[in-house]
Amino acid sequence: MEDSFQHKGLRKKLVELVKSKGISDVAVLSAINKVPRHLFMDSSFINFSYSDQAFPIGSGQTISQPYTVAFQSSLLEIKPMEKVLEVGTGSGYQAAVLLEMGAKVYTIERQRDLFMRAQSTLKMLGYKPHFFYGDGYEGVPSYQPYDKILVTAAAPEVPQKLLEQLKVGGVLVIPVGGDKGQSMVKIVRESESSFVRTEHGAFAFVPLLKGKAG
Ligand code: SAH
Repeated sequence: MEDSFQHKGLRKKLVELVKSKGISDVAVLSAINKVPRHLFMDSSFINFSYSDQAFPIGSGQTISQPYTVAFQSSLLEIKPMEKVLEVGTGSGYQAAVLLEMGAKVYTIERQRDLFMRAQSTLKMLGYKPHFFYGDGYEGVPSYQPYDKILVTAAAPEVPQKLLEQLKVGGVLVIPVGGDKGQSMVKIVRESESSFVRTEHGAFAFVPLLKGKAG
């Protein structure tokens, strides 16, 4: 499967749509314009790759809606060379967007088949995050601290270990809530012991589950 002229055209339209919904971060828009989302999709939904919706990717999981990817990426205010931990690799699409923004990406997934598939997709496209198979509630302590942490599944509350692995001055973005919808929470670590929390609208994510799925 290639990245055709038609795919590039559809992507430009998607960028315009995401922009019209309020995303103005140029680095985010440029990354959405570059990453071939159709190569991260399950083949049954490939014709819908450039519609602004979430789709199943197997194992009961979804590739996030492009607007949501853009929104979370904007809230993180990514700068080139920053160390970013993503919890919930899924298809690998969000990781590719962060890499296009110049971040160094560490990504963790608890479902073994998605972990394997995302690795092969990202490698094929030349994207090189650090991959981890495990429980994102634990973070990835061996590479801490992170400038930014992005959680792409819904947690009932903010995991303590993720707060601990955030640099002072760093930002954590995470949807917090239950299965009826979540609030997008942004936490800035202002010092060793002080965290400032703000809320940024309602979203619907698959749940952040404890433990490895195997
Ligand atoms: N960022 C993904 C979206 C994936 S949906 C993308 O761009 O496609 C959320 C993902 O989080 C799912 O793949 C799910 O398996 C994973 N997940 C859920 N709980 C987790 C946990 N505790 N640790 C790591 N990954 C988890």
